[in-house]
Amino acid sequence: MFKPHLSGLEWPVIPKRGDADVLALVYQFDQSQWWDPDRLLEGQLGQIALLLRHFHTTTPFYTERLKALDYDPARTLDVDWFRQIPPLTRSDIQSAGTALHSTNVPKDHGRILKSSSSGSTGRPVTAKKTDINQTFHKALNLRNHLWHKRDLSAKFATIRGYDRGVAMAPQGRHQKSWTTVYRTGPSIMLNSAHCTLGEQLHWIAKERPPYILSYPTNFHALALRCQASGIEMPWLKSLVTFSEALSPGQRSVIERVMGVTVEDMYSAAEVSMIALQCPEHPQYYHVQSENVLVEVIDDDGTPCAAGETGRVLVTDLHNFAMPFIRYEIGDLAQFGPPCACGRGLPVLQRIFGRVRNMLYLESGEQLFPDIAALHLHEIGPLQQYQMIQKSYHEIEMRLILSRPFRDGEETRMRKMILSALGQSFDLALVRVDEIPRHSSGKFEDFISEVAP
Ligand SMILES: [Zn+2]
Repeated sequence: MFKPHLSGLEWPVIPKRGDADVLALVYQFDQSQWWDPDRLLEGQLGQIALLLRHFHTTTPFYTERLKALDYDPARTLDVDWFRQIPPLTRSDIQSAGTALHSTNVPKDHGRILKSSSSGSTGRPVTAKKTDINQTFHKALNLRNHLWHKRDLSAKFATIRGYDRGVAMAPQGRHQKSWTTVYRTGPSIMLNSAHCTLGEQLHWIAKERPPYILSYPTNFHALALRCQASGIEMPWLKSLVTFSEALSPGQRSVIERVMGVTVEDMYSAAEVSMIALQCPEHPQYYHVQSENVLVEVIDDDGTPCAAGETGRVLVTDLHNFAMPFIRYEIGDLAQFGPPCACGRGLPVLQRIFGRVRNMLYLESGEQLFPDIAALHLHEIGPLQQYQMIQKSYHEIEMRLILSRPFRDGEETRMRKMILSALGQSFDLALVRVDEIPRHSSGKFEDFISEVAP
């Protein structure tokens, strides 16, 4: 049932303005999901043409970049020309600074918002967005709930990193509602960065939420703990994963031990939803083509065929505050064949994204050091980091810096990290020139050498 807000009008409901915008998008998504890929691409290119015209005149970075390509705003945009635009890397964003901020964001796109992410590469970037991007985010979230037929009247739990002091054990935090537009059951939250697995299990057993959203690694660790201790959660309906790569192995352990399906999503703070697990074919993820254009390219920049692994480029179709055009997010993926469900939204069959590890304590407990939730990017010279737990008492933070630390920056960073760990450690900050990827091609922003 939608949320009523006009006096005396409860059925049928006339939704309020923001909710009506979200519903109007979901209504269109219900149709466009069945379009064939060519029709979807045509819609995307039309939208990208508008973005290029906008950023060509309102961001110095793209004025330059498009001039070098003989850009002609009057020409119809075709996909081959679009693919000549050089990918936008995370280091481009770090060095461009305000040269990527539009000087003339359309007033009717609402407020300008900021969000930060270190993605899968430990390279923090800050995105500027508008209220329009928030509206798309809400609509895609709602689509995800509807695709998976979630019972909106049930309780929904979220276990993830929050800023220090939010949603702490043992109570966590409680809110009335967990999605937009509809009247829902309660939403409850717990801060994974400061709760051991034992505390999480205690909280889940007390709250008995049918749905839990968390990181794949966290569910995997919880599942192993449940199996070892014979804990069952018969109240569960499904587990929802986000923010890092879910491996087929993790999925099968979690589903077998917890007795429910895992519903994964591929999203990033900068661009919102990228791909969502198909409601009928769980091994496939449908690209959210109404929000982003996704490309997968090889090392020469050539588009990869289905089944070939390559670098993911994401173009955000509606961000007029800061361009994310052929944005190289730092993940690897493979396109798959068309999905038998009949949706025309392209399929990703494997996503090699962020990998996270747990911090091991001498007591035998494990914690998530949610480094990505820290505001390390606010410390001037930081370009990339990787944290290593060397022993129960020692942490090494490897840093790529654009210049040496100045006035108090090192002390600030040290303080921020130690307070996030919530435990006492000897912390070494080590400046390096390069941080290699794992042999699998994945990047790990935290590695524990103490892991058994
Ligand atoms: Zn499908």
